[in-house]
Amino acid sequence: MATAPRGRLQGKNAIVTGAAGGIGLETSILFAREGASVLMADISEPALAKALAKLKEVVPTAGRVETIKCDVSKEADVQAMVESQDSWGGTDVIFNNAGIMHADDADAIDTPEKIWDLTHNINVKGVWFGSKHAVLSLRRHKKNKGSIINTASVVALVGSATPQLAYTASKGAVLAMTRELAIVHAREGFRFNSLCPAPLNTPLLQDWLGDDKPKRHRREVHFPTGRFGEAIEQANAVVFLASDESSFVNGTDFVVDGGMTKAYVTPE
Ligand code: NAD
Repeated sequence: MATAPRGRLQGKNAIVTGAAGGIGLETSILFAREGASVLMADISEPALAKALAKLKEVVPTAGRVETIKCDVSKEADVQAMVESQDSWGGTDVIFNNAGIMHADDADAIDTPEKIWDLTHNINVKGVWFGSKHAVLSLRRHKKNKGSIINTASVVALVGSATPQLAYTASKGAVLAMTRELAIVHAREGFRFNSLCPAPLNTPLLQDWLGDDKPKRHRREVHFPTGRFGEAIEQANAVVFLASDESSFVNGTDFVVDGGMTKAYVTPE
């Protein structure tokens, strides 16, 4: 169903990485609906084309929305992505959201080193490069405010007995890095916040869980609400963090998890 624009991000140029799927697509849609000009970035061009078509279908009134192929683990790609918004007037918001959880990620014994490196190259270095080039852009365009939102995870906050060690370590790094960036750049007006989603109903996790009922149950039993989260519930939080409504919110581990990380025992 088509929705009318609301304008909470009017006048802002935003970049979303991992924009072709899950949280990134839902956020791109909400950003466009709220009046932002949006650059949707992803490693997959065919998926980006589909995502753009969906956005235009649900937000027919969207302003400027474009796509760009970008592998966030390659600094040259990230630099080109951010600099491509120079002609738009410079980046105001970047959502460094692209991330992977590899099927071969395991525990301390069984995680292959190449999976560790791949995961960290995308999940950690990708966020660093996005943050770095956002700061350079904000300075280049002499902006006195900017919002950078980096996707971490609840596994950066609580230990999981179902191991994905490389992924967990990478999300801990996102949290720590974002916190430091928030403090270093606070006097420039550049805000950095982490988003910590709970397990979600998106391809990243659902494809990985597949039809394995015990593997699913192993997670569901810990959800106070009894369900996986939805990407749109993350996107709503990202709009807040991107907008000036959150002007005094900086350096937070912004947790959107239905109460999961605060539960001792879950309701029956
Ligand atoms: P998703 O798999 O649905 O979407 C991720 C997107 O990132 C895909 O479109 C993919 O093509 C893209 N991508 C992958 N590698 C890339 C690269 N090198 N450069 C650019 N783009 C790349 O995943 P999602 O569930 O929407 O996850 C988004 C973020 O949220 C990730 O950082 C993920 O770790 C995090 N997260 C997800 C969950 C969950 O349960 N799904 C929970 C906590 C955190």
